[in-house]
Parts: sequence; C-alpha cells; structure tokens
Amino acid sequence: MIPPRPIASISSASWLKAFVVVVCLVIVFLEGWRDWSEREDELVRTESAMASLARSLAQHADDTFELADAVLVDLVDRATAIDWSPARTARLRDFLVERIKTLPRLKTLAIYGPDGMLVTSSLAVEPGNVNVRQSEFFDHHRTDKDAKWFFGPLIRDPLEGSWVLTLSRRFDEPGGGFGGVIVASIESRYFTEYYGKYDVGAQGSLVLFTAKGTLVSRYPLNEQVIGRSGASDRLFTQYLPEASSGSYRYVSAVDGVERLSGYRRSETFPVVVLAASSEEESLTLWYRAFVYRLIAVMALVVTIASLGWSLARQLRRRDRAEAELSILAATDGLTGLANRRTFDSHLESEWLRAAREDTALSLLLVDIDCFKAFNDAYGHQAGDHCLKSIAQVLAEGVRRPGDLVARYGGEEIAVLLPVTSAKGAARIAEFIRSGVQGMGLPHKHSLPAGVVTISIGAATLFPASEPISIGPKDLIAMADKALYGAKLDGRNRVAVSKAA
Ligand code: GH3
Ligand code: MG
Ligand code: MG
Repeated sequence: MIPPRPIASISSASWLKAFVVVVCLVIVFLEGWRDWSEREDELVRTESAMASLARSLAQHADDTFELADAVLVDLVDRATAIDWSPARTARLRDFLVERIKTLPRLKTLAIYGPDGMLVTSSLAVEPGNVNVRQSEFFDHHRTDKDAKWFFGPLIRDPLEGSWVLTLSRRFDEPGGGFGGVIVASIESRYFTEYYGKYDVGAQGSLVLFTAKGTLVSRYPLNEQVIGRSGASDRLFTQYLPEASSGSYRYVSAVDGVERLSGYRRSETFPVVVLAASSEEESLTLWYRAFVYRLIAVMALVVTIASLGWSLARQLRRRDRAEAELSILAATDGLTGLANRRTFDSHLESEWLRAAREDTALSLLLVDIDCFKAFNDAYGHQAGDHCLKSIAQVLAEGVRRPGDLVARYGGEEIAVLLPVTSAKGAARIAEFIRSGVQGMGLPHKHSLPAGVVTISIGAATLFPASEPISIGPKDLIAMADKALYGAKLDGRNRVAVSKAA
C-alpha cells in the first residue's frame, strides 16, 4: 500500500486558467475604459463645436441687425428733412426700392406717418390703408423721444404677412415734433436659409430665439414651431440666467432625441442662438471605430483564452503523467505494492519520526514457505499469481494510514508499522499469516499444511530510547533473524525478535 502523494491544492493548469481569465478581463476593462473616455471626448468636442457655432451665428445676427440699423439711421436723416410733397415721396420710394435690392438680409423698409398710416415702402406694390398705430413699435417711438432703435417682437409683417423681426427708429418733423417711424423688417426665413449652409446632421438644429424666448427661426424649417414660446425651456430658465453662452445636453421634448448644444446670447440685440447636434450622429465615427476595435479585442481575447485553455490542458496532461510516473517509480510492477526504494525511504523517515515522537516502530518480514518448490511444481506463472494473491492479503490486512506494505525482494514482503508495539505487531503478523493460510492455495510440497503458507519475523524498537549506533538497518536485521528462527522452527509461524 502506497501512501497518496500530496497533491497541490490548486494545480498549475488552474493557475494558468485564472491568469488567462485575469489577462482577458484586464484587456476588456482597459479597452472598455478607453472606448468610454474616447466617447466622452467626442461628446465634449461636439459640445464645444456647437458652442463656437452658436457664437458665429450670434455674431451673424448682430451683423444683420447692425446693418439694418445703419440703413435706418440714413433714412432718418432723409425723412426728417422731407416735406412729403407727392414728388419727394415718390423719389424716396424709388430710393427705398433700389436700396432694398442691395440688402438681401432685409425684407422691407417702410415709413409710417405720425398717425400710423403707411407713407411709403420698398414694396413694388404697396398695400393701401395700412395703419400701425396699434403696434408696439409705433407706440414706443411716439411716446419715447430719445429712444434709439427699437427691437420689435416676432410678428406677421403688416405689409405682406410673413414672419418678421422688426427694427425701427423714430424721425422728427423739421419743427421737432413726432414725424413718424421707419421700420426695417428681417424675415424669419432669411435666418433659416442662412443656417441651412451649416451641417449639423440630419437630427441637428439651429435655432434663433428672441431674448424673451420666442422661437424666430429654425433649421431644419418647421413652420409650426415659429412663434412658439420656449421661455419655459431649460435654456431660458436655467442656463441663460447663469451665463450668456455655454453648452449643455438635453433630451428633446419634441422628438425625444438626445442632443448636445451650444448657446449664445447677443450682447447688442435681444436674441439668443442655439446650435444642437444629435448625440447619436456626433458619435457615428466613434461608433464605427468602436465596432472595429470591439471585433479586434474579442478576437484577441478569444485567441488568448483558447491558447491558454489548450496550454492548461497540456499542463494537466503533463501533471497527470508526472503523477502516474511517480506512482510507477514507487510501485512494484508485479504486486502493485510499494517497491524497495519506497520502503527504504519510508523506513528512514518513520525511524526519525518515531525518534522525535518517542513511539514504537515495528517491522514484519514475510517470506513464502517453500516457494522454490511451488515454482518447480506449478510453474513460474503460478508462482507470480501466488505472490500477487499474498500481496493482496497483506495490503488488505494492514489498513492504518501510516502503515506500508512493500515488496522487499524476491518473494519477501516487508510490513512497516509505525506507532505499533511488539504485541500489536505480533497480532497483526498472526492475522496476516492466518489470512494467507486461509486462502487455501494448494501446495503439495508445503507440509504439513498442504497449502501456501508464510513465515513472519517481527521486530520492534523505540528509536528514541536506542543507543545512537542503532538504526533502521538493525530493525531489518532483527526481523530477518526472527524470520530465520520461524523457518527453523518449522515455518508457517510468527517469530518475534527477542533482542537486537
Ligand atoms: P523457504 O523460504 O521456505 O526456506 O524456501 P524457499 O523455497 O521459499 O526458499 P527461498 O526463499 O530461498 O526461495 C526463493 C524462491 O522464490 C526463489 C525463486 O524461485 C522464488 N521467487 C523469487 N521471486 C519470485 C518471483 O518474482 N516470482 C516467482 N514465481 N518466484 C519467485
Ligand atoms: Mg526467500
Ligand atoms: Mg521462501
């Protein structure tokens, strides 16, 4: 019986697998982290692009209104000096018609008298009976002599009906009284068309609001939202009160699209520009690169994992082969018992242990009786079979974990019994002896039993109490001597060693 070799609780194959799993997880984690931060970078880049687009468009709105105001200032000069005779009025109208042709940003120029009636305009065909007395801009200029320009709310053009923003100035009569109002109107559609030159993707949008939140223009054009109030949007309730320009992310209440936006309030005129790009569209390039990288990383991980697993399989095979080899190296081929080498090293270590722990160490030497004659009578193969059967009886008769049954040489078997007194050893020896006899293997030359029997020499020492000169060899010699005695006394018996 060979004591089981201690097996490492975690095999090298398991360590390799754990290592491969950790490496794969680290790769996936690092790649995931890199992709996530690149995604965030892309979103931040889009936000800052939207913020600078909003800045440019706010500047464009300023330029447009400044141009309109410069035209108004010039017209105020001309209107103040005029006596409104039909001929002068007609000449001024011609001037307005020509002027508006050079100003594509402006929709119409119109001059209203002190009673609010249209005096003349840049329109080729002027509508009759237009009165703006009730209009906010007219009322403002009539009552406020010092006002410079007045920025009107988004209205339907009183002359031809489209959505317009108006910028107006008052002019005086030569005598100093209220002479009337000159109005430049800028069409909502002008901004929409201008914004169409910018690419903000299919789901992006560019929006012009008045400072109070009325939606003036939107690209892509959506007629239904023009004039709608966005005053309750977060842009007006949260972001603009904090800063006149910036960027933020939001989910559109209109279409549910997540957008990244930049906004800017004009410093001169009461307008706000919002530039927004959809999150999905701004991540298109990132997403494509992400998919390619994901495929590459998955391929890498699968390759590493399959290499690791096949290596682990080979390791396991090698470990198993090593374990089998070491068992083979320690085992006797015929009987399956421990071999002589194993016996020698166990005897050595059990001797030391018994010395350390002050316990008895017993040894039985077993020899088959008249075995030569058995071979001669029944053949060598039958002899081998007999030897195996006896080995089995011995292995089964000795069951304590520390005990060792080894083929000592030829048809001799040694049984090492640690922590076993002489009395105990004799009892075990007798048990084994009767067990072999009990098998009843016929042996006509082994008389008087007529069956295969064994003789046993037993010896016991207390290594801790023995003189230093006494060692494991002496235990063998004692058992051998006792065995010799058992043979002399007639075989098929146990002889216990009396002294070293
Ligand atoms: P006894 O021990 O009773 O004095 O007589 P014996 O005939 O057994 O004498 P001894 O122990 O000297 O004989 C050993 C014989 O055991 C010699 C050999 O034929 C036989 N033998 C030893 N090893 C083997 C083996 O592996 N197989 C077989 N079949 N026989 C073996
Ligand atoms: Mg012998
Ligand atoms: Mg013999």
